[in-house]
Amino acid sequence: MNHQDALHAAVLAPLERWLTAPRVPGIPAPSTTTKLPALSFEFFPPRTEALEAQFWACIRRLAPLGPRFVSVTYGAGGSTQNRTHALVTKLAAEMALPAAAHLTCVGATREEVDEVARQYWQAGVRHIVALRGDMPAGIAYAPHPGGYAYAADLVAGLRRIADFEISVAAYPETHPAAASPEADLDNLKRKLDAGATRAITQYFFDTETYLRFLDRALAAGITAPIVPGILPVTNFAQVARFSAACGASVPAWLGHMFEGLDDDPETRRMVATVVAAEQVRLLQANGIDEFHFYTLNRPDLVYAIAHILGVRAKPDAASPA
Ligand SMILES: Cc1cc2nc3c(=O)[nH]c(=O)nc-3n(C[C@H](O)[C@H](O)[C@H](O)COP(=O)(O)OP(=O)(O)OC[C@H]3O[C@@H](n4cnc5c(N)ncnc54)[C@H](O)[C@@H]3O)c2cc1C
Repeated sequence: MNHQDALHAAVLAPLERWLTAPRVPGIPAPSTTTKLPALSFEFFPPRTEALEAQFWACIRRLAPLGPRFVSVTYGAGGSTQNRTHALVTKLAAEMALPAAAHLTCVGATREEVDEVARQYWQAGVRHIVALRGDMPAGIAYAPHPGGYAYAADLVAGLRRIADFEISVAAYPETHPAAASPEADLDNLKRKLDAGATRAITQYFFDTETYLRFLDRALAAGITAPIVPGILPVTNFAQVARFSAACGASVPAWLGHMFEGLDDDPETRRMVATVVAAEQVRLLQANGIDEFHFYTLNRPDLVYAIAHILGVRAKPDAASPA
């Protein structure tokens, strides 16, 4: 509340206050002719058997929503290479889901990365999310000797191997290591020019930031879709910590939403659903009809938000776990 609003609230009687407050148009309801959004879901490779069971339960719950693709991340420094590979190939082969494997440049030579990509192609995986990756926490990035230095180099390398569909990362608030926002956009354009066909954004909480980024990208000559990456937040403290490192700002209002709820997971989940639902509905009202969800291997929130966006489970798909 700013000073004027505070004065307004203090001086006026309730009805006057309500009648004189600014009028804000609500998020319009999607019309019946609104195109249903295309969704993709991102998962991470679980570390234990129990978490693996949770991973597959999550897949079974979300698969009936008919995602355009599901993707599995690659741990820092390639630490999850085998697990990522096993999960992505199983998703493609056994679940018949369009599966995408994240692949990074970190800690491997070009030949090693190329070999991983060839194995994916042989296993029937046709989609790679090509990333530079990060070094383990606290270590500044340095290209591996003989490795791909940046994601744009990796995209060009993958193109030489096979006709992969390639997605890359984009940063509405600029990658933290970029020389400038313009240099970061040039880098995004290089990745697309090298053969990627889609960018997926780092998560963000301010819709305006994303929409302005689309304008700047178009002005920089980018025409490929830049799909918003949506992170439904249930653990605010964790997200606040993580965001500082990855260049996503966390607005004060978001902190306020979760204030006092540290020991109340049930209310946190309800608040999280409302926050994410508002975000995607606002994006949808602005014409966006493709969304990438960071599921964190938890399905319920994402399922609810997809439902709010108008997506329904397909009756012939796998039944929820
Ligand atoms: C959708 C998504 C999925 C992700 N999945 C994973 C994952 O599975 N595993 C993982 O480890 N990380 C993942 N990340 C995180 C990502 O690896 C980091 O954000 C990383 O720091 C940058 O990766 P990038 O592909 O954007 O890098 P790049 O596009 O290579 O850019 C990295 C930085 O270098 C700059 N740059 C690019 N080229 C040059 C150049 N020639 N000279 C100087 N500077 C240059 C860019 O401006 C930018 O600042 C993901 C991020 C997103 C948004």
